[in-house]
Amino acid sequence: MSAPLAEFELIRRYFSFASASADVCLGVGDDAALLRPPPGELLVACCDTLVAGRHFPINTAAFDIAWKALAVNLSDLAAMAAQARWFLLALTLPAAEDAWLRDFASGLRALADLHAVQLVGGDTTRGPLSITITALGSVPVGQALCRSAARVGDDIYVSGYPGEATLALADVLAGGDGGALRSCLDRPQPRLQLGLALRGRAHAAIDISDGLAQDLGHLLSASGVGASVDIDALPWRQSGQRDLAAILQGGDDYELCFTWPPDQPLPATDVALQRIGRIEARAGLRFWQGGCEVDLPQTGYQHF
Ligand code: ADP
Ligand code: MG
Repeated sequence: MSAPLAEFELIRRYFSFASASADVCLGVGDDAALLRPPPGELLVACCDTLVAGRHFPINTAAFDIAWKALAVNLSDLAAMAAQARWFLLALTLPAAEDAWLRDFASGLRALADLHAVQLVGGDTTRGPLSITITALGSVPVGQALCRSAARVGDDIYVSGYPGEATLALADVLAGGDGGALRSCLDRPQPRLQLGLALRGRAHAAIDISDGLAQDLGHLLSASGVGASVDIDALPWRQSGQRDLAAILQGGDDYELCFTWPPDQPLPATDVALQRIGRIEARAGLRFWQGGCEVDLPQTGYQHF
């Protein structure tokens, strides 16, 4: 049996992979990191925790747990139109197992490298598996996308295919392997490039973590407006079966929903964008299908 890993050795072995970066004056190893946001930019900060069995199925691979923990945070930065720069990892582990930690670290590193974000610190403790990441980015003053800036007449857009993560989760909970959609659940793609492309041009944005209807509802309330959504315009892949409840109520997709001045050309982007409705002065979220208003639930994932 190998000797138990000391905390510092664990950090050195698995979590000291940051490369030299001009905006990190001091990274992992001291009491705190010293970071240099670009002059004239605001620091953008967010934090999200994943708890085993609650935010991911217990049998999820360590690689995917790490990926998701970072992805959900980067998604929040994307929704603010921030440039993602740094993150801190607070890791609570039942035991320090080499194979698990190696897999976890490579998942973390894979997504961090993809978006050039640096791990600059964290905390490591023993206990039931839980991962908290604090992500930090920056945005020029006046260019962040807030939930509160939607204007009457804006078009409402959504990226990608909300609902697929929920369909995968339903399959996993029923004893399946999630099928072709499992990666939507385990490895969501934070829409950072899209967020940057929307900077200074979109009016309001939110990332969809708890369901399109509920999260769009947050944006509407924050902006003091309402909206009509066209059910027939909701995106789904032609190859899959359209599941309205999954599209509207399903959580965990981490797509962006944003409002856009009408008749303005959309930015060029790799991700599918679909216009789903329009911002209106009358408060509330209304769904329409074939010219008739339809009554659909507006709730989503409930944390408590
Ligand atoms: P302190 O006791 O001063 O809080 P720690 O012993 O917790 O310091 O951590 C030592 C260094 O290692 C710090 O720079 C901290 O940010 C970093 N660190 C701790 N855990 C992690 C982790 N899981 N990932 C990355 N860095 C970590
Ligand atoms: Mg500490």
